Amino acid sequence: MIQILLFLLLQCSMSSRAPPKALLQDMVVPPRQLFGPGPSNMADSIAETQSKNLLGHLHPEFVQIMGDVRLGLQYIFKTENKYTFAVSGTGHSGMECAMVNLLEPGDKFLVVEIGLWGQRAADLANRMGIEVKKISAPHGKAVPVEDIQKAIAEYKPNLVFVCQGDSSTGVAQPLETIGDACREHGALFLVDTVASLGGTPFDADALKVDCVYSATQKVLNAPPGLAPISFSDRAIEKIRNRKQRVASFYFDALELGNYWGCDGELKRYHHTAPISTVYALRAALSAIAKEGIDESIQRHKDNAQVLYAALKNHGLEPFVEDEKLRLPCLTTVKVPERIDWKDVAGKMLINGVEIAGGLGATVGKIWRIGTFGINSNKTKIENVVELLSKSINETRSKL
Ligand code: PMP
Repeated sequence: MIQILLFLLLQCSMSSRAPPKALLQDMVVPPRQLFGPGPSNMADSIAETQSKNLLGHLHPEFVQIMGDVRLGLQYIFKTENKYTFAVSGTGHSGMECAMVNLLEPGDKFLVVEIGLWGQRAADLANRMGIEVKKISAPHGKAVPVEDIQKAIAEYKPNLVFVCQGDSSTGVAQPLETIGDACREHGALFLVDTVASLGGTPFDADALKVDCVYSATQKVLNAPPGLAPISFSDRAIEKIRNRKQRVASFYFDALELGNYWGCDGELKRYHHTAPISTVYALRAALSAIAKEGIDESIQRHKDNAQVLYAALKNHGLEPFVEDEKLRLPCLTTVKVPERIDWKDVAGKMLINGVEIAGGLGATVGKIWRIGTFGINSNKTKIENVVELLSKSINETRSKL
């Protein structure tokens, strides 16, 4: 009897929970021009793929799409690396995948730090119990390559990390000759191109890069959720000869490489690829293939000049003083004295345009304007700067 009562009580309490009211309403997604550090706006040809029906991830048609994606990634990374694929996860998953495969206990890790992303790589290595040495530049500057070469020769690291385009400062770190120094001293060379790939020159093979990763939501104009990555033969050899197995199954580069058809062996189930996001990546790569990777890079450079000129016209200054060190697809702008960056960004958002404030050490000091992919467009850029200037003047008039 007591048991029946308890059962009825439980039933009553279970069924009394009402569904969340919010979920009974339609989702609201306002239009927005995304000129922050990412995500950028989706191109129409990419957005269209998101309503296509799913395929099974082992169906031959999907395997073909994965193969197309691999070719597109080899094209934009400029590499012949067989192990070129996309990790299922955002840019961070590319970073974690690179590091868990390329570092093992007892290894030494050299981090070139020009902003938040070097700190993040060092933090990850600390979590893995790896010895880290940092070589840093003041924010807004790059580390001279001669200093990096010297640090490699002295410290003799197993792995060297460089972020090509640091989205927290807007600096583009020169990469030339670092790969040579790595080869000379037995180190592997790892590059983060999350905020730079397709928007500034990069040639994985010519630069002797051993591992490079990126993300889909910046220059590629696709939704976040995949991290393109490429491993050189040297990197794969190191992974094959590890003393200990890679601690992560999900990020194991050899398993992922097999799943993506990189090793020529029979494909094994590893995980279920995010099918729709892979469609989006294929469409993004197709758009770049049609424009040409070098043409895309040139367009970003040309439109960065449009942005610098517009800023100057409105009395605003880029944060990175040396123009050669500015990342063409992400420009950082000094916040004028006594102006509240948040107030200005808030006003712009009300007008449907996103720009962002600083990140890490640059909070309060700068705005970050991303001009990625389809947003690298003269008219759009001039309109954004016009609105920025108007919003600053509105804030100023209240002081
Ligand atoms: N590296 C850089 C240079 C980035 O700008 C970002 C994202 N802003 C990341 C890594 C991490 O990417 P995600 O947010 O997609 O994980």
